[in-house]
Amino acid sequence: MEKEVFDIKSMTLPEVKLAVEAMGEKSFRAKQLYEWMHVKLARDYDEMTNLPKSLRERLLEKYPYTSLREVTVQTSKLDGTRKYLFALADGNYVESVWMQYHHGNSVCISSQVGCRMGCRFCASTLDGLERNLAPSEMLDQIYAISRHTGERISNVVVMGTGEPLDNYENLLRFLQLISDENGLNISQRNITVSTCGIVENMRRLADEKLQITLALSLHGSTQEKRQELMPIANKYAMEQVMDACRYYFEQTGRRITFEYSLVGGVNDTEADAENLCKLIGGLNCHVNLIPVNPIKEREYTATERRKVLLFQNRLEKKHINATVRREMGRDIDGACGQLRRRFGDLN
Ligand code: SAH
Repeated sequence: MEKEVFDIKSMTLPEVKLAVEAMGEKSFRAKQLYEWMHVKLARDYDEMTNLPKSLRERLLEKYPYTSLREVTVQTSKLDGTRKYLFALADGNYVESVWMQYHHGNSVCISSQVGCRMGCRFCASTLDGLERNLAPSEMLDQIYAISRHTGERISNVVVMGTGEPLDNYENLLRFLQLISDENGLNISQRNITVSTCGIVENMRRLADEKLQITLALSLHGSTQEKRQELMPIANKYAMEQVMDACRYYFEQTGRRITFEYSLVGGVNDTEADAENLCKLIGGLNCHVNLIPVNPIKEREYTATERRKVLLFQNRLEKKHINATVRREMGRDIDGACGQLRRRFGDLN
């Protein structure tokens, strides 16, 4: 495999030290630089006023500085949720969402430009994968939103466009940097990574023994049902995915979240609920029920509210913890990935 070369905002503090020393600078400069990048959230080298100008110029030459440019921001009139579209240096776009909950502010970030997983109901995957995001490009979605809102962000969910476990190395580095005590220091317990179920990498992640929450996009309670909606299920059998979930819990002690998008007439029947109880009963987990957000390219429709509550009730009767995901920013929010696509259409 080709070795990744990281930009400076994707480097850990010890790596920044080496980079700065290699430029013939004292190592305390590394601490200053790292703080400007990850605590003061500088937009460019010019803001780093306690670094000598000559050093800033040399840095710019050697290390292009990742800084996402805000293209559009939509704010929900219903609940203040904001949806951001950012431009990357190479002209690609990513979207991120800022949500306010009573327990703090949460940001949902993208991990790739596009996605190659092909889930049937998802807009992010319609044009396939363009490229992986660098760790710095994941971080900077949070940094740019933090600067724009002026508020502290306490929760991060990697649930935007892309499959995070299909960009494993960069994801891991991102997790390390965002929870670094020398950086924004967001508690790992407040970070959730959502996967469609890439089994090897779920196990690898378990072995890292981080304190983050792993969310598995289940969407079907049997192998066949899951295969209908998620091509990845052709690669891994349901037992393999469930074993990986159990393994994650054993290794980390962290309860698994299952995401289950309810699609009218497809996975929302009584039999589906019963099969789901059989599948995950006894597991230390939580289920998030999400009425599917219809996209124009597919004819799927959301399960009606009454049936969603009935489905939830069936799980709860079997002592399975289930919540219906609150829809945030309903007035601004197309389904995941729609903003980037719509913008692509216009340009
Ligand atoms: N690739 C990862 C993370 C990104 S998707 C994953 O599959 O988990 C985040 C969540 O949104 C996933 O559970 C995904 O299945 C779900 N999702 C995607 N499109 C949706 C839609 N139109 N309606 C409801 N949920 C959707």
